[in-house]
This record gives sequence, structure tokens and C-alpha cells, in this order.
Amino acid sequence: MPLSLLCTQLTHFIGSSSMYTGRKLSKFTSCSTQAELPPTPKEMSCWSCQHRFQQGGVVCSGCDKIQPLDTSLNYFEVLGMPNMQFDLDLEMLEKQYKRLQWQIHPDRLAARTPQEQDYSAQSVMHINVAYGVLRHPLSRANYILAQRGIINEVDSEGASISDLDFLNEVMDLRERVDETSDIAPLQSLLTANKEQQRQLIQRLSSALASPCGSSEAVTLAFQLTYVCKLEEAIVKKLPEL
Ligand SMILES: [Zn+2]
Repeated sequence: MPLSLLCTQLTHFIGSSSMYTGRKLSKFTSCSTQAELPPTPKEMSCWSCQHRFQQGGVVCSGCDKIQPLDTSLNYFEVLGMPNMQFDLDLEMLEKQYKRLQWQIHPDRLAARTPQEQDYSAQSVMHINVAYGVLRHPLSRANYILAQRGIINEVDSEGASISDLDFLNEVMDLRERVDETSDIAPLQSLLTANKEQQRQLIQRLSSALASPCGSSEAVTLAFQLTYVCKLEEAIVKKLPEL
């Protein structure tokens, strides 16, 4: 397939993905210069009673007042998870998310002041976004790479098409999905796709944990974007048959 045609098809293929697919290499370095050590727990003061409590808390542990959103925290810190760690305990992530949501749930806001209700609305939104990004391996990897300054946020325009064999393979698979009208081959493709995702995620984990693995992680995240899009196409087509 000619490169220009491949590029056009790929742009169409990626479409208006809502996934966190950062691509442009802004300040690209092959090795991470940022030490990703566990964060030192910091404290903050309650706006109402001045009680000191651990940063990231949405409610004061002294007077129970809802606190303003702390925009200095990254998504890992917002959800109280190990900082910038790709391999997350997803059960723990969900538990943390539910704990925070419960603390500022709308049902518990009736007796709150308008100021606290504003704080709550801001935090609910931020916590939802953080959870949405961290719970999926692809968006989590892209978030880590964006935080390292390796890629920008959502932007597939600048996708680096460096692995033509891989892209041709994905486009061939996409054509097979589009052309088939049988359930069995689609199910086989889905099984193979899941296995490919598992392997890519495993390799991403190693690359992101390596001090010099950011470059490889960008490539792997790029590949995972296409593999995930292919899964979406298969899953969308299955109920139609
Ligand atoms: Zn307080």
C-alpha cells in the first residue's frame, strides 16, 4: 500500500478517538530525567478550622468541611495511588475512587454550604477524569509519558508512522473485520487482539519502569492505540451479526 494512502486510511481509522493518545514528541529524551520516587506525604491546612491534614484529602479530618480542589496534584496523587506507577492495583484504585466519591457524594451535600457544594462539584469532576485516565492501561501510559514531557496530550495529528510493517498489519486486520460477515472469524480476531493487547501492556510496563525506556514506551503506546481501536471495531460489529 502506498505511504500516502496508508496515512489517509490511518487518519480515518483513528478518527475522533476520545482516548488519551498523546503523540508529538515535545522535549523528547531517551532517558527519563525525572526520578519517580514515592511522594513525600505533604500536609495542608483546612480553610475553615486550620486543622492540618494530608494533602489530597477532600474533607477535613478535623471539622469534616469539604476542601477546595488541589490542582497541584497529579491524577495518581488525587486518587492516593503510587505516584506515576504504571502497574496499578486496580481493585485498590476502584476502592480509592469510591471512597472519595462517597465523601463528596451529592446525597451527602444537603446540609453543606454553597461554598462546600462548589468545592465538591469541582472535585467530583476532577476525580472522575483522573479515574477515567488511570483505569485504562493505554490512557495511563500516555498520561505518564505526558507528565514526563515526552508527549503532548490528545493529538493524533502528529502520529509518528515509523513502523510500517505494524501499521500495514493493523490495516489488513481492519479490512478483514470490515469484510467478514461471520461470527467465528471475528471471535478469533478478538481473541488474538486481546492477547496482543496483553503482550503490549506487559512490554509497556517494562519500558515505563526502565530509566531509558520512554522512547520504547511511546512506540508501544502508539501500537496499543491501534490495537485498541481494532478491538472497538470488532466489538461493534459482533452484535450486528
Ligand atoms: Zn477543618
